[in-house]
Amino acid sequence: MDVRVRYAPSPTGLQHIGGIRTALYNYFFARSQGGSFILRVEDTDRERYSDESLEDLYSTLDWLGIRWDEGPVVGGPCGPYIQSERFDLYREYAEQLVREGKAYYCYCSAERLEEVRKQQAESKSEYQGYDRHCAHLTDEERAEYERQGIKPVIRFRVPTEGKTTFHDILMGDITRRNRDISPDPIILKSDGFPTYHLANVIDDHLMGITHIMRAQEWIPSGPLHVLLYQAFGWDVPQYCHLPMVMGKDGQKLSKRHGSTAVRDFRAKGYLPEAIINYVTLVGWSLDGSTEFFTREELEKCFTLSGIHKSPAVFDYKKLDWFNGQYIRAASDERIADLVTPYLQEAGFIHDPATEDEKALIARLVPPVKERMKVLSDAVPLSAFIFRDEPVMDRSVYVAKGSDEEKTVEALSRGSEILLAGLRSGREQAAIEEDLAALAGELGIKVNGVFQPIRVAITNSAVSLPLFDSIGLLGLDETERRLRRGLSILEEKQ
Ligand code: GLU
Ligand code: ZN
Repeated sequence: MDVRVRYAPSPTGLQHIGGIRTALYNYFFARSQGGSFILRVEDTDRERYSDESLEDLYSTLDWLGIRWDEGPVVGGPCGPYIQSERFDLYREYAEQLVREGKAYYCYCSAERLEEVRKQQAESKSEYQGYDRHCAHLTDEERAEYERQGIKPVIRFRVPTEGKTTFHDILMGDITRRNRDISPDPIILKSDGFPTYHLANVIDDHLMGITHIMRAQEWIPSGPLHVLLYQAFGWDVPQYCHLPMVMGKDGQKLSKRHGSTAVRDFRAKGYLPEAIINYVTLVGWSLDGSTEFFTREELEKCFTLSGIHKSPAVFDYKKLDWFNGQYIRAASDERIADLVTPYLQEAGFIHDPATEDEKALIARLVPPVKERMKVLSDAVPLSAFIFRDEPVMDRSVYVAKGSDEEKTVEALSRGSEILLAGLRSGREQAAIEEDLAALAGELGIKVNGVFQPIRVAITNSAVSLPLFDSIGLLGLDETERRLRRGLSILEEKQ
């Protein structure tokens, strides 16, 4: 059997981490099995639909390098792959069920349904939901409604007796009493639009889907879907509901935890390979220890058996760590290209960059790369080169364990050691030793000397390594800033 899987998002919002993980698992499973990965757009909910969401779906998958074998744009033998282009088909299938007595027309008005709901709530009735008012209309009753011009919906007849079971690869058998399934759900709305359940089941069947991998929140829909497959006389695909992605607090991952839209991660400067690697590990592992996977490796080694049963925590710090690793592994040229837009956005350089600016970026990248977690970190880390905004708050110059007086002396004498050393071409290590000796003499830690020097030169307490910063600024500018730092510290308050 050839594996055929699909990612079937509804374009009602931006692609988020959880959705993308579903896409990746489907994609990697298809690739590892030599099967097909299908993209299907489930846009039956026209009220929540947005063009922006659809654009975001395509551009996110494109950015991640996830190509679909069949789907919108590329087409395929089971198309169209956008549900709104398949509406006639759903109506035909719904009417087939009506002819077979497995579904029926319902003419109830919104007011009537609301009244039923209210009464059920008031009587605290165990029975909730549609009261099957139209389940057994006579031909005359139907004709009367039709005469009144009422457009019916089609409801699926859910058995009131018995149980429905479906098998889930991860969770095992899941059984539900039929009477607990929402009574007779609408499968076709009065305007002819299918609801999610009908369209989803028909398409999975017609598209030959063998495995349904989707979020666990769809488990409650499972029994109804199985009943629909049975009503049509179709085989039920294999189910594999994926563990929830949650924040550190055990709640479903949401905006409260931080960014969830992949687009936001991209904007901040995460690399696609870091997102692919880390997101895949949220709920899956190969052997419990291997952490680094390229997309190509996952295309070979992904297995369903590696998917965890329990909810998985999305750890932003861990993603930062992965991203830092991938940034350092990337070539300087690539990082230079990738940070350029951030520097332009910050107004540091021209767009397009001049030759001089390009040369500066090339010098900047090696030290900056070492300290970046995300590409946008290039802006604060390199700001001192493009903008000269001295730190006026004297306390920033003072390291832990030192004081203002010692800091003045450290900066004043340290600057002399540094400048004299650099001008006479001494080794960096030798200069550092002398600065450490000065700290010893002043009775402070080494950082008590380095911190004021660093703050004076880079206008910040967090910055690139000192000698890299000096290299980027040049000696004259370094000297000017050191002297200015001293005058800031010495200024009488
Ligand atoms: N359109 C549904 C969603 O957005 C698809 C669910 C499924 O995969 O069956 O989650
Ligand atoms: Zn009705």
